[in-house]
Amino acid sequence: MKRGCISVFTNGTDISLKNRSMLVEKLSNKGYEVRNDYSPADTELIICIGGDGALLRTVHSCNFPDCPIIGINTGHLGFFQEISPESLDDFISDYEQGEYSIQKLSTVKATVTTDNGRCESHLGLNEILIKGRHSYSIHLDISIGETPIERFSGDGLLVATPAGSTAYNYSLGGSIVDPRLKLLQVTPIAPMNTTAYRSFTSSILLPAELSLGVTPEHSDDVIYIVNDGIETEYSGVKKIGVTISDTHVRLMRFKNYDFWNKVKTKFL
Ligand code: NAP
Repeated sequence: MKRGCISVFTNGTDISLKNRSMLVEKLSNKGYEVRNDYSPADTELIICIGGDGALLRTVHSCNFPDCPIIGINTGHLGFFQEISPESLDDFISDYEQGEYSIQKLSTVKATVTTDNGRCESHLGLNEILIKGRHSYSIHLDISIGETPIERFSGDGLLVATPAGSTAYNYSLGGSIVDPRLKLLQVTPIAPMNTTAYRSFTSSILLPAELSLGVTPEHSDDVIYIVNDGIETEYSGVKKIGVTISDTHVRLMRFKNYDFWNKVKTKFL
């Protein structure tokens, strides 16, 4: 029987490529067409073999696809990754019987406008990082909604989604957030607190309807926007707006999935 198309991506390591070969053979035997690219028109499922970093790269290379994504963990941590290489047969059987749920993850969007009319948006599944060049500090006027809040000085600001709260955000002392909550977490990176500069030293949480406004104090400063590790350099930045985006990532989860059990096994 001819089935739908399944796209399989890997992080290119030997173990991931070995698992890809085994998986492709099993899926082909079941009648699926397996591809190494993604088409919004006919891909019904994306499989990513690797770690969390590989899943992030797959999401970006497929331009935040609408179809479900499942991760097979051959990486280190595996927060996004759902199944182990030993469970390929169980995964295919559960998939065919519809024994799964979809975890809809929210994403964060930064829109950058510059003096010369450049206006670009960047999406992050984990986070948007706003930082200066090399080890220079940056000075930013921060507003929440319409309210000016602070003049931030430090290494940068990280705006994390709940799904990204266990990544860079956690290393910076931010809180772990259950992905069922719809919020953004703004975590300062090495904020200065002197008589000259005053910044929040802890993370702040924003509800979905509020956006963060960021204006560099010196418009000729070089600013980097880093979405899930992808850097874009700007100068002459007039304004950066950061909001929860309408775009979602749909991760496939099976019956034993529990976010807090994952947190326990990965961190404690
Ligand atoms: P990388 O620097 O090669 O690896 C970053 C590490 O973060 C990997 O161990 C990765 O897990 C893990 N990770 C990614 N997303 C995660 C999540 N949602 N929850 C828990 N851990 C997660 O970079 P990369 O592989 O290209 O990934 C980009 C991400 O790295 C960024 O989005 C940022 O969050 C993170 N990062 C973290 C730090 C830090 O903690 N100091 C610094 C820079 C960037 P795997 O091993 O399973 O791939």
